[in-house]
This record gives sequence, structure tokens and C-alpha cells, in this order.
Amino acid sequence: MDTKERRRKILEILGEVYPDAHCELNHTTPFELLVATILSAQCTDKRVNMVTERLFAKYNTAEAFADLSPEALEPEIKELGLFRNKAKNIVAMSRALIRDYDGEVPADRDALEALPGVGRKTANVVASNAFDIPAIAVDTHVFRVAHRLGLVHRAKTPRATEEQLMKNIPKALWTQAHHRLIFHGRRVCEARNPRCDECPLLSYCPEGTKRVKAG
Ligand code: SF4
Repeated sequence: MDTKERRRKILEILGEVYPDAHCELNHTTPFELLVATILSAQCTDKRVNMVTERLFAKYNTAEAFADLSPEALEPEIKELGLFRNKAKNIVAMSRALIRDYDGEVPADRDALEALPGVGRKTANVVASNAFDIPAIAVDTHVFRVAHRLGLVHRAKTPRATEEQLMKNIPKALWTQAHHRLIFHGRRVCEARNPRCDECPLLSYCPEGTKRVKAG
């Protein structure tokens, strides 16, 4: 089987196994998703959802966050790692939205990435989930699983991984592939103990084949 066919098969199986893979950060608006994604750096979605359930009941617009000082926001999110930096970024991002976009989140990947505290991964998450703009956000799960499956080859950085994935996956599948790789990484292809023996992708996975052979 050639590489192209192998990749096609992997995407097909991921689609069968995780037909409903979706963003697991709870949100009801693009702004809430933007805040939740900023909060999710180095934290689990579950923990972020616990914090945002309480936080969004109090504040959930750019106006509300722009009126806060970072110091006033810090206690609301202090269960999360890097909370001081996140508080600073969320307030600065909200003020930038008020100043430049009437408080709305721009439906544009580059405009998103230009906001304070918003990196490429966050911009891709918001663009794809809030605005249906095809994008592949590369987090730690996507990076790891894509390499193990040979969907990318020796991409050293998340950006290089994203570039290779965009080349190797049809554009119509970018957003779904992102969710499905994350689902697979959280449920089967875990960082320390990938469960290759019970993985439906084993026959197509170079890393899994190696691991199973090595016993
Ligand atoms: Fe991950 Fe193993 Fe499955 Fe490959 S076979 S995707 S390494 S769990």
C-alpha cells in the first residue's frame, strides 16, 4: 500500500471511529471559545470547563472583560496554570476587540492571530470551530498522533506539522481531522502508554507496528 492510500485509510478509520469528534471546550459564542482556548494552554479541557462554567456566568463579553484589571480576573481563574499571564492576555485581547472590532471576534485567522495572547493554535481553533474556516490546530495530541501515524514526517515544530498535515489531508477534512486526532490521542494513543494492541489503526501505523513487534 502506498503512503497516500495508507493516509486515506487512516483518515477513513478515524472518521468511522470518531464520527462526532468535536471541540470539548464548552462555549456558546465565538468570544467564549476564544477565552476558553486561551485558558486551555497547558490545562485539560475538563478543568477549563469547570472554571468557565463559573466565569462565563459572571463575564462573557469583550466589554465585561475589558472593564476588568488583570488582577481582578486572576482569582477567577487561579485553578489554572499560568493564570497570571492568561488574565493579562484575556484583558488585553478584550480591550483590542473593543478598540478594533466593536467587541466582536473577527472571523479571520490572521486577524485572530494578531490579537494579544492569541497564537496560531488558538487562532486555528477559533477560526475552525466558531467560523467554519478550515484549519488544523496542532496541539500536543495532534503533534504526537500525527507523527506516530506517519501523517507527517519529522516535522520539528507545530507549525511544520500543520503545514505537512494541510498538504497531506484534503482541505474539507482539516477541521474534522484535527478533532479526530485529539480524540484518538486522548482515548487510545496516549503519550506514555499508547494502546496499540486495541487500536483500530494498528495495521496502518508505522509506530504501532514497531511497538507491537518489539513486544
Ligand atoms: Fe497510536 Fe499505537 Fe494506534 Fe499507532 S497503533 S495510532 S501508536 S495507539
